[in-house]
Amino acid sequence: MANYRGPVCRICRREGVKLFLKGTRCMTDKCAIERRSYPPGQHGQSRSRATDYSMQLREKQKLRRMYGIQERQFRGIFKRAERQAGVTGENLLALLERRLDNVVYRSGLALSRKQARQFVTHGHILVNGRKTDIPSYTTGVGDVIQVRPRSLELLAIKAAVDVTESWPMVTWIDCDRAALKGTIRALPAKDDIGAPVNEQVVVELYSR
Ligand code: SF4
Repeated sequence: MANYRGPVCRICRREGVKLFLKGTRCMTDKCAIERRSYPPGQHGQSRSRATDYSMQLREKQKLRRMYGIQERQFRGIFKRAERQAGVTGENLLALLERRLDNVVYRSGLALSRKQARQFVTHGHILVNGRKTDIPSYTTGVGDVIQVRPRSLELLAIKAAVDVTESWPMVTWIDCDRAALKGTIRALPAKDDIGAPVNEQVVVELYSR
């Protein structure tokens, strides 16, 4: 399926939670979830009966859309989580959080995951000093993510850092905004996701 190019606030309204897809607007009262917290469309306000499958599907879509991942790629990440030792649901969340585009966003170097992905694909980001332009790259403990020297003056990055300065930051990344860099000091835990997601339900969906 092609990338979704429509209005992203519709996605949050569909899932019923803030997925922080739009950057600065998400932190203001202009957020569509604050204004119209019911699903979009003609039948958005009518009641519908939730089935087990519909609840599982919604949880999976919430996660997938939050990280901007296509279904096929998401399935691949799920399979990888299954192969790892430990709880599959928690492994899945950790793998999603450790994606390079997400780490750039979590480090406060971008306003949204979408913008972070653009910074990565355009070659502005270094991982341990080496240019890495693959948004799905899985980072690990001790990795240093920084803006490459040639891009330090990029207005989009500077503007993003100015805004994110007042945003709450995750504890598993040491963010050094002055140097435009972040160091991963621990693997992310479920609480670091910042959105109410029941990952166990996603596991049930894929185990059907
Ligand atoms: Fe739109 Fe952001 Fe609010 Fe989602 S969280 S509805 S993307 S403004």
